[in-house]
Amino acid sequence: MSITGNYDTDNIFAKILRGEMPCVKVFESDHILAFMDVFPQSEGHTLVIPKSPCRNILDAGAKDLGRLIGTTQTLARAIHSALKPDGIVVTQFNGAPAGQTVFHLHFHIIPRYDGKALGAHGGHMADPDDLKAVADRIIAAL
Ligand code: AMP
Repeated sequence: MSITGNYDTDNIFAKILRGEMPCVKVFESDHILAFMDVFPQSEGHTLVIPKSPCRNILDAGAKDLGRLIGTTQTLARAIHSALKPDGIVVTQFNGAPAGQTVFHLHFHIIPRYDGKALGAHGGHMADPDDLKAVADRIIAAL
């Protein structure tokens, strides 16, 4: 799949935005949705996406991108405050060869904890109740 191209309105994040697929929500505004990654690489792994349809950083509007990184910072601060990680990785992949698997722009916020190895990308599926418990702690810190 090319790094450029048409936006697929049936990608999984588009379905989440339309309410056709569930997610464990952490934050929502008119322009942004943030939810727990269902295959978390660490406790608190959160995804932040724009509501507008764009595949990656190349076709995103500057305003959307600005809002997205601003909200990513807000959430990273809440995650820091709630979960007390020792580090926080923020990543964003563009195109399949770069590691992108869902073709709706998103930032990953991945807390890191001393002595704990990072889980595999798309590794094990988390229990929704566990994700909800972590999300509630993050929400309380927002
Ligand atoms: P990327 O490889 O950067 O495109 O990341 C896509 C991310 O979406 C991966 O970390 C997946 O674990 C995550 N993911 C895929 N499906 C879902 C879903 N239904 N709900 C939450 N996260 C998902």
